[in-house]
Amino acid sequence: MEINEQVKLILAYGECCDHCLGRFFGKRSHGLSNDERGRSLTIALAIVENHPYTKFTGTCWVCGNFFKAVPEWADRVVAAVQGIEFSTFLIGCRVPPLIAENEEMVWSDLSLAEPEPFKSEVNREVGKAVALRTGKMVDFKRSDIVVILDPSSGSTEVQINSVFFYGRYQKFERGIPQTHWDCRTCKGAGCEKCNFTGAQYLDSVEELIGRPVISAFDAQNAVLHGAGREDIDARMIGTGRPFILEVVEPRKRSLDLAELEKEINRTAEGRVCVSIKRWSDRAEVETLKSNKAHKKYRILVEVDGGLSADEFAKALKTLQGVTIHQRTPKRVAHRRADKIRERIVLNIEYAGEEDGKFVVEILGEAGLYIKELISGDGGRTRPSLAEILNRSAHVFSLDVVQVDGAKEGD
Ligand SMILES: [Zn+2]
Ligand SMILES: [Zn+2]
Repeated sequence: MEINEQVKLILAYGECCDHCLGRFFGKRSHGLSNDERGRSLTIALAIVENHPYTKFTGTCWVCGNFFKAVPEWADRVVAAVQGIEFSTFLIGCRVPPLIAENEEMVWSDLSLAEPEPFKSEVNREVGKAVALRTGKMVDFKRSDIVVILDPSSGSTEVQINSVFFYGRYQKFERGIPQTHWDCRTCKGAGCEKCNFTGAQYLDSVEELIGRPVISAFDAQNAVLHGAGREDIDARMIGTGRPFILEVVEPRKRSLDLAELEKEINRTAEGRVCVSIKRWSDRAEVETLKSNKAHKKYRILVEVDGGLSADEFAKALKTLQGVTIHQRTPKRVAHRRADKIRERIVLNIEYAGEEDGKFVVEILGEAGLYIKELISGDGGRTRPSLAEILNRSAHVFSLDVVQVDGAKEGD
């Protein structure tokens, strides 16, 4: 069908604004706005076909004159983002069902091949107007904030995207979980047992790092994404564990990370210590979490009955480079699938005695259960140190001393 024929048919539905008329052919004639395209089409029709020309002044049957209100929408957006720091933004729109139905009917009736949807024009036109008013830039891929317009109610909703930073943490105190645990008795509601805090443990690594961060960023929450986790009773020392902290709904975002590091370390009072390396992003969280890092541990081992250091060291060495078959340990069996894993002891060394216990340093393949490597877990882990020594042995204390980072040198 000729384009003039299509224009005539569209105008026959009812009065249609230049924006909506132009948008039905929105992917043609690059460089024109829909407004210009629509006006040109009605003028062309008047000249070529001698069709009576009437300038659009009424109410558009497609959009109900939404585009006349673009300046007001831009003002609403500017008011809604008051007090929020951002440098890039994106406008979104909840398209009223009636508008979507109107335009989809025309697309299908006339088999239009190159229309642009209402939503795209709204997002672009309001975006341009907001950029002019604020001097901020539209970013389609990774904006600091997204403002959703709801033409049906005339309201706007601001979504503040998280900021992320990458670092390493050390944990010097045993008994601190990595993330917040709800009280087992009340499940977080607050009861006598937890002193009405709702927490099983008052502090977690996540909270010790997160509290000063939430306050500095004027944020809603802070979520710790760790490269694996250590047991609650294990310390994390040495070079520390890589983590990314996600700062949720921050009203400020351009902070000095060195200052932030100082503030976290001051308030954590030596229980936890961070070294912040750089800014990060959501994509890196996935990389970090799927990172199968080798880990190095320093443990104290207790063995029943007398045993010389030489005998102990000799037994240890037989585990060097050996593939260990580990059935899911009893202590985690309630939350992990029961299966047998094969993990390699990459390096194991005797490192002296301390308080009558043997010090051992182990570099294990990601996922190797260390406590069971020593105790044998009632025969579920084989071989084990206990099995080799033919007597019971167990880990008295465990420290993680090294976890590889997300990137080389992190
Ligand atoms: Zn319209
Ligand atoms: Zn409780």
